[in-house]
Amino acid sequence: MNKWLRRVAIGLIALLVIVGGAYYWLIVQSGTPSGTYTIDIAQVRRLADAMPGDKPIEIRVEQLERGSFPATAIVAGDGWAPSPMAMFSYQVVFPHSTAVIDSGFDPKAVKKNGMQFDGVAQARMSKGLNDASLILFTHEHEDHIGGFLAQPNVRTLLGKARINGEQVANAARYNSEIPPNVFTGYQATSYESYLAVAPGVVLIRAAGHTPGSQMIYVKTAKGQEFLFIGDVAWHMRNIELVRERARLVTMFMLREDSDAVLAQLQALKQLSQKEPKIFIVPGHDLGVVTADLAAGALQRNFR
Ligand SMILES: [Zn+2]
Repeated sequence: MNKWLRRVAIGLIALLVIVGGAYYWLIVQSGTPSGTYTIDIAQVRRLADAMPGDKPIEIRVEQLERGSFPATAIVAGDGWAPSPMAMFSYQVVFPHSTAVIDSGFDPKAVKKNGMQFDGVAQARMSKGLNDASLILFTHEHEDHIGGFLAQPNVRTLLGKARINGEQVANAARYNSEIPPNVFTGYQATSYESYLAVAPGVVLIRAAGHTPGSQMIYVKTAKGQEFLFIGDVAWHMRNIELVRERARLVTMFMLREDSDAVLAQLQALKQLSQKEPKIFIVPGHDLGVVTADLAAGALQRNFR
């Protein structure tokens, strides 16, 4: 082989190694947890039980939107086949009141992102927000708080929403349709690690996916326990494998603290092994919601 041909060959191999390495690092590999994250479930249960009043009697769910992502965007290394992503809202039903967790997208944002949209479910969710005495969000992304911010009477509804300071501070950068000055004068909820907000309902700090991310623990009167983890995991498979979304998504699209999320996935996996009866509900896992509906743990549609 002459000198030039050899140089070209070496150059091409080097390019292949760089491109292949970048592909592997950005698309296939997820990383391993470097930090630690702890869910003190005994403490969470104590707080849930300490709050006076009747615990929830049931939890209802609306599926508001549906689309799909390439599987590797959800679980790094899972390939390019489309995998479903659904947006949900949950109604926690107490004997004499209700609470709502998450609200899906602003319908105007759905038109732009091309997802399937269920207007009837959206209308029931909007009624649910108006009927609720407590409104909570796992985090400040527009597929969770957007449907709330889109409500015409959002300023009134804010009076019963417990939104943490980081969610308030970061909502504008994640919500394309946010009304100007919507949070002016709003008193954000502030807490360190855990905060009981209703009988059986406890907020758990979980910054990482976004600065305001939190998990929401709910214990029903029957003793069933749920952990709405927001987008710490989009699918249960993230927890089972302790594997994040592809770095292309976490670094360049979400700009999340991936180390924190990996540590949370690890903690959730340990919790699921130690406490298999807790219903862990990831942010967008249609399979989990379908299974929980079939098991009677969740009920279809808001009251
Ligand atoms: Zn989400």
